[in-house]
Amino acid sequence: MSRPTSKRAKPSPGKRIAHAAVEVINDWGLHARPSAALGRLAKGFDAKITIRHDGRKASASSIAQLLILEAVKGSHLELEAEGPDAEEAIAALAGMFADGFGEDHRVLPGEGSRCGVAVGGVHILHQANDIPHYSIPKTAVAQEQKRLAQAIKDERRHVRELDKGGDRLIAEFSSMMLGMLDEEHVAAQPAQQIRAGLVNAEWALKVCLDEVIEQFNASGNEVIQAHANDYSQMLLRLVGRMAATRRKRAKVREGTKRVVVSASVGAADVIDCYRAGYAGLVTSSGSYSSHAAILARGLGMPALFAVDAKALRGLAEDTQLILDSDAGELHVKPDKEVVKRFAKKTARRRPPAARGKAPAATKTRDGVRVHLHANIEFLDELAPAYAAGAEGIGLYRTEFLFLNRDDEPGEEEQYVAYAAAVKGSGGRPVTFRTADIGHDKGGDGSSHSSAMGLRGIRDSLRRPAAFKEQLRALLRASAHGPMRIMLPMVVHAAELDEAVRLLREAASETGQPPDRLPPVGVMIEIPGAVYAMPQLARRADFFAIGTNDLIQYALAVDRNLAEVAELADSCHPGVISLLARTVRQGKELGREVTMCGELAADPLMACLYCTLGLRGLSMGAGKIEAVRAALGRHSIRGRRRLAERLAAGGSAAEIRELLQGFAEGG
Ligand code: PEP
Ligand code: MG
Repeated sequence: MSRPTSKRAKPSPGKRIAHAAVEVINDWGLHARPSAALGRLAKGFDAKITIRHDGRKASASSIAQLLILEAVKGSHLELEAEGPDAEEAIAALAGMFADGFGEDHRVLPGEGSRCGVAVGGVHILHQANDIPHYSIPKTAVAQEQKRLAQAIKDERRHVRELDKGGDRLIAEFSSMMLGMLDEEHVAAQPAQQIRAGLVNAEWALKVCLDEVIEQFNASGNEVIQAHANDYSQMLLRLVGRMAATRRKRAKVREGTKRVVVSASVGAADVIDCYRAGYAGLVTSSGSYSSHAAILARGLGMPALFAVDAKALRGLAEDTQLILDSDAGELHVKPDKEVVKRFAKKTARRRPPAARGKAPAATKTRDGVRVHLHANIEFLDELAPAYAAGAEGIGLYRTEFLFLNRDDEPGEEEQYVAYAAAVKGSGGRPVTFRTADIGHDKGGDGSSHSSAMGLRGIRDSLRRPAAFKEQLRALLRASAHGPMRIMLPMVVHAAELDEAVRLLREAASETGQPPDRLPPVGVMIEIPGAVYAMPQLARRADFFAIGTNDLIQYALAVDRNLAEVAELADSCHPGVISLLARTVRQGKELGREVTMCGELAADPLMACLYCTLGLRGLSMGAGKIEAVRAALGRHSIRGRRRLAERLAAGGSAAEIRELLQGFAEGG
């Protein structure tokens, strides 16, 4: 992308100078056509414009000099303008670079959801905790300046309200805050920066405040340094206020043909985009096993994760995109040929449903019976799951009932949903996982947002009243058919004990006999839990391996971070041996072990773990058919040597080699 990393123009009477750093993004670089276009544009301003690259210098109005710069794709250039129109000239030229001189069809790779194709204009979605940075067209300058002014006005009103109690300290604080909000680097300079740099309001504010913050930080005086924090906090508050207005704007566009582009996306955002009718979703965050990716696949939404962040930041609102989630490619500004090629492909907006009769019971090639269940997040995934031949629901992620709303669903609302899932399963078992809110699935943005923080059972036990509401709703729904209750993120046996105690309390409140409670199981998704299985088995009726989290914690790879996604190697000896141990211990302890993480949906891996003794797998409905077919092609009996070698560990490369042999051997 190319955007001005603007050193702000320092207007001084008589002499106006502006700078910007840009990158060449079009495939053929600064060749004759863009050079001519730059030259034409430059000549229209009353300013002397110079472009520097790699120690060379060119006048922006000379095609020959521009060509001699030899600026190829990816080159970083410095623009400088001097004269009465300096700022406008720099903004216009930087915009031209950002636009790739209007000539390029680019293809950005990413991790696709494999749910078809989405076509539409970019819609940028702001995230709460980051400071968005993107180029804006000249026509959007006034709108951005208005957003900034509104945020400052709202913050001012808020600060004044704080001061109503008559407390002297608060009064002093609010007067200081109001003073800061009036300073020119908060209002006047950013407004000017929006125009000069053609950047969004949040970024303009950041650029201006960063200068002040840097000055404070550079001071040797601790009191002055502490003041830097006041400005950082103010920046975040104002950006937060602007985020609210951006989200409102996103709603206005509901139902239109647009593709959401965002630096990072959580599961809640995927639901928002799906419900608002967006054609697709592109983000630089995430990995195959992130909740957002799992959900996009489950909803059949074309999505692309782990796309180059820098390239995404350079996309302007409304830029035309074709998102091919099957090939894992994002076509930016597709040319006519590409548009034609994709014209026939249409996106699937629903989870794929198998047609025809439900298939026969799943067996391996040598006749071993394996039970395939489905993972669901929403009730409307139930029918496609059964149409695909699921024998039940192996993982109902109940937390999705809690997301994207300000209030909590009460017992009654939960009961209605859970009862519908049980009734809709027609006697097939449903495993309800109690709410695993946190990390990338929403939460309040504090301790919830840490993968190792207050999520899953930890959060439930901190809020026993709310947890019991969920348990009562589940117990009442159990009257309609078979169900099991599964607890997420358990690592201490005491957590299970406490959950069972609350379940019994809930049962007495709903009048359920204590000897007729649904089976209670534990997810094995923390390495420590693998080793605590003997203690957990005293109370747990079954175990389900959550490979998404187990891999995340075993290898210290945040499943949400695209930057480390490659390190989440399911063939890592640490992962293989944890999984093998879990399956073996399940047998020794006489407890069923199933697998419901994304690894269960990998046909070869699924077969592999069946050689170790796994007999139950749960996955997104769309994967059932492929896993069933792979099992039908592979024999798993007499694979003791393979299983032993796996359990004994080895390098990831050796394990991959074993797998390859297994795949070829059938
Ligand atoms: C897992 O961790 O593998 C799992 C199935 O649970 P979730 O993906 O919802 O964390
Ligand atoms: Mg998990």
